[in-house]
Amino acid sequence: MRFIVVGSGGREHALAWKLLQSPSVREVICVPGNGGTARLPGCRNLPLAATDAEGIARFALVHNVPLVVIGPEQPLAEGMADHLRSQDLKVFGPSQAGAQIEASKVWAKDLMQQAGIPTAASATFTDAAAALAYLEQQTAPIVIKADGLAAGKGVTVATSLEMARQAVEAAFQGQFGAAGQQILIEECLTGQEASVLAVTDGITVRPLLPAQDHKPLEEGDTGPNTGGMGAYAPTPVVPPTLMERICAEVLEPAVAQLRSRGIDYCGVLYAGLMITPAGDPKVIEFNCRFGDPETQALLPLLETPLADIILACCEQRLTDLPPLEWQPGASVCVVMAAAGYPERYPKNMQISGTEAAEGDGVWVFHAGTRWQGNQLRSTGGRVLGVTGMASTLDQALTQTYAAMDKIHFDHSYYRRDIGYRVQGRARQ
Ligand code: ATP
Repeated sequence: MRFIVVGSGGREHALAWKLLQSPSVREVICVPGNGGTARLPGCRNLPLAATDAEGIARFALVHNVPLVVIGPEQPLAEGMADHLRSQDLKVFGPSQAGAQIEASKVWAKDLMQQAGIPTAASATFTDAAAALAYLEQQTAPIVIKADGLAAGKGVTVATSLEMARQAVEAAFQGQFGAAGQQILIEECLTGQEASVLAVTDGITVRPLLPAQDHKPLEEGDTGPNTGGMGAYAPTPVVPPTLMERICAEVLEPAVAQLRSRGIDYCGVLYAGLMITPAGDPKVIEFNCRFGDPETQALLPLLETPLADIILACCEQRLTDLPPLEWQPGASVCVVMAAAGYPERYPKNMQISGTEAAEGDGVWVFHAGTRWQGNQLRSTGGRVLGVTGMASTLDQALTQTYAAMDKIHFDHSYYRRDIGYRVQGRARQ
């Protein structure tokens, strides 16, 4: 089998790497891929944009590569899966209608309310005056969310009503373009966050191991939000009994509700959850794709061939697939970024030590990298994701951070406290 993987991040490197471990997979083509996928045995990069649905369809048909996995949310929200399916290609990733679960927070909230899925109470506004009047009746902290995709920047957890007012005004003044012309004002939840990703063929839902991401830039979960600075799995924040509740109260009702709206949802349904102090799961958001960096932590633990899972979803026979198998132990991915990310950061830095860092349960997944001759260079804010897997989270962390010491590029930055919420201490 040959697969196309759309995207250029650490998630896509990990997907390509894992697909190539499936006995049935002969080749993976990454579009456009990165420095890691360029040198991964069995993988090659195709220099098309990750949003070029027509180009990808043409390539898939001419070169007879009938299976496409779409990594990022943007092409899903733009309807790439619909276009590829209309050309008789098999696609792992929801239709444009299904991707609304991530691309419109108002749509997702409505779906949750209709399906009775536990989530924060909220109100929707399409003009500043009504939103500001509503805020007068509320107390801080309170959460303001732009409706559409805003690269993780459309959410303000306002610690004062003044901050909330500023966020409302900024959204309606066009800070997020069309994405902010509708907003949600939402109850502020407390507790621990967890990410539960599931694969689904639109009928059956199979959860992956629960993970915990670290979105804020700085240690102790402070500073601005990013695409994610590190993740580990499985997280004890979601023990097996809670996982059963999350399946029954969140994932299955969501897929059933999508189905009742005429949406045959094939791909990953990702629930970003707050586990409240009382131990109840509440949905913060849904994503319509694999998480980054959760995927880089989860996939090394997966024993079931990834190609079998993806094919079973595409052919709507997930129910026939034996239960997913996982390695015992724990895995962690720590993101090495360029200092200044997520704002302005230097690019084109020489990177050394990635090969020396790998081995003994450590993998280096590339994100913003490319090769210039035999020299690896940085191209993005999140440059590498270093994953370590071991029998305990503590060992996995020790292994990962030791491997990161071997990697060098100027102005590199990473958090040294990934997993601290369950470790109970910051790591040196
Ligand atoms: P991303 O693009 O990174 O997935 P996003 O822009 O879609 O993020 P959310 O995941 O909805 O935004 O929110 C970002 C962060 O804001 C959450 O991880 C959480 O820490 C915080 N947050 C969002 N909603 C709430 C809420 N109701 N109560 C408390 N915190 C919240």
